[in-house]
Amino acid sequence: MDHIKHLKCLICGKEYAPDEIEYICPDHGNEGIVDVCYDYELIGKRISRESLAQNPDTTIWRYKALLPVEADAPVPPLTVGGTPLYQADRLAAGLGLKYVWVKDDGRLPTASFKDRASAVAVVKAQEKGADIITTASTGNAAAALAGLCASIEQPNVIFVPEAAPQAKIAQLLVFGSTVMLVKGTYDDAFELCLETAAEYGWYNRNTAYNPYMTEGKKTAVYEICEQLGWNAPDVIFVSVGDGCIIGGLHKGLKDLLALGWIDKMPRIIGVQAAGSSYMYQAWKNNEDILTKPPGPSATVADSISAGLPRDRIKALAAVTETNGAYVSVTDDEILEAVPALARGCGVFAEPAGAAAYAGLVKAAAQGLVNPNERIVVLNTGNGLKDVASAMKAVEMGGKRPFHIEPTLEEVKKIIGNA
Ligand SMILES: *Cc1c(COP(=O)(O)O)cnc(C)c1O
Ligand SMILES: [Zn+2]
Repeated sequence: MDHIKHLKCLICGKEYAPDEIEYICPDHGNEGIVDVCYDYELIGKRISRESLAQNPDTTIWRYKALLPVEADAPVPPLTVGGTPLYQADRLAAGLGLKYVWVKDDGRLPTASFKDRASAVAVVKAQEKGADIITTASTGNAAAALAGLCASIEQPNVIFVPEAAPQAKIAQLLVFGSTVMLVKGTYDDAFELCLETAAEYGWYNRNTAYNPYMTEGKKTAVYEICEQLGWNAPDVIFVSVGDGCIIGGLHKGLKDLLALGWIDKMPRIIGVQAAGSSYMYQAWKNNEDILTKPPGPSATVADSISAGLPRDRIKALAAVTETNGAYVSVTDDEILEAVPALARGCGVFAEPAGAAAYAGLVKAAAQGLVNPNERIVVLNTGNGLKDVASAMKAVEMGGKRPFHIEPTLEEVKKIIGNA
């Protein structure tokens, strides 16, 4: 892996060779998240915008030269990446904007953004010859790991909160994972998973612990920029729980700038649920995220429920270093965004995905974006992940089906005469 220079601790700045540490900087307990630092000069000789234009592979592996894996590493067969970027003119017009795109990662194989990271996780685990991979998750990272593991017959053990939506738990069971439903929060599941992995020596996919997850997640922004002809957007909206996705997007943009493939850094706007808004609070009040205690994590958007965002160092930098912002949206605003996004552009998102759009609605109202800016909203999860919340959202909006007898007269009573 000659294209990786070192792993750098985000707290103390210490640099490690990739094989020197397993996951984190050992000087800070479980908090010493590291960043994977690349040799861009070397990478620039191996891959270019022109070579990409000739590459028929539409998966994240088209960017393999920019990922922390060997050039000849076998990759899982599920097609991760290549999700559509829809121009959403009606949504834009409704908000007084001109250019809005929706990147739909609900279309990935297990129906969430997390497939991007889990695809890299299974390649890294196989590199290590791991017998078992484990992760804690609010649900989607687990489902992604379960699916990618199933595709290569890799045993895995998953820790999720007992209250995770049924669809996500069903995915885990269908894919054959060993599933631990933890009687507690995601934060409890996370701690237990770390403890268990250390006890048994399992390969650990945990977000903001395993440094390579950010690297998988950054591929979304490579795709966005490539889909826009390497003309980077002005603003990107993304929902934030642990902060790994937002950190990944920032990392990917920094890669592209270092390679000279884009010429400006977009502003990144992180969207949090009001009931789980640690990052929003820390950013707004200028708090020290190394000492700020965990906050509440109550929100309908289960995928962004995180009392202590594990990737908070990267999540804060993504906003402060790009002149971006955090916005907070209520659960009602998130639920309203589910049908609004679906009706406005045909993308059905789970609450955490729709939250990014709710954030754009709020930002437009607050003047955080200009009418002429080119804006990308990232949908991170498919609406079918959480049907109960979708039903709640449409009922809140007064939308009801008609219950009828199977006769034309009954239809006419509703539709009127032809
Ligand atoms: C995980 C997830 C997020 C948030 O990602 P973080 O890295 O935890 O900030 C947002 N939306 C969906 C659907 C997710 O699964
Ligand atoms: Zn350190």
